[in-house]
Amino acid sequence: MTTFDLRRFRLWSGEQHREAVEIELEPLVYGGQRYLPVPQTIEAELTITRATSGTVFALRFENRFFGPCYRCLNEAELLQQITVSEYQDSDPGADEELHTPYLEGSRLDLSAWARDAIALALPETILCRFDCAGLCPECGRDLNHEPHTHEHVEVDSRWSALEKLRDEL
Ligand SMILES: [Zn+2]
Ligand SMILES: [Zn+2]
Repeated sequence: MTTFDLRRFRLWSGEQHREAVEIELEPLVYGGQRYLPVPQTIEAELTITRATSGTVFALRFENRFFGPCYRCLNEAELLQQITVSEYQDSDPGADEELHTPYLEGSRLDLSAWARDAIALALPETILCRFDCAGLCPECGRDLNHEPHTHEHVEVDSRWSALEKLRDEL
């Protein structure tokens, strides 16, 4: 877990502090599949701005996950560019939504914040390419490598036997 200790420096109203921080990412489980972060530790830019009534935290980073394609199960890559911000009111009595859930005492939980930001920015499906053809629903072969269709037998053989019988009657 990566946390950032805000006691390391003091900001006055109107001041800003910017720092490169390293965040360790956890594997991502999405749609029943597991995706691994590569690299596992990313460099993010943390900006802390002190305003009159509170503090604004902004986090910016890029991440890359590898795992199975939702349609064909070949390797897919998920690349995200994330920019998120959180606010912490100086007044402890202020509304709950004016307090970031990632701040515990003087420690900002960067791992949890990054994990939630990644989850919120996920696409509906993770694909090896946007137009992945997927697997054939009939034989399971990869339609990207072997594009094909199946000849459909018009009538089930049991029916044709019946038809034949009917013709004979
Ligand atoms: Zn695919
Ligand atoms: Zn097929």
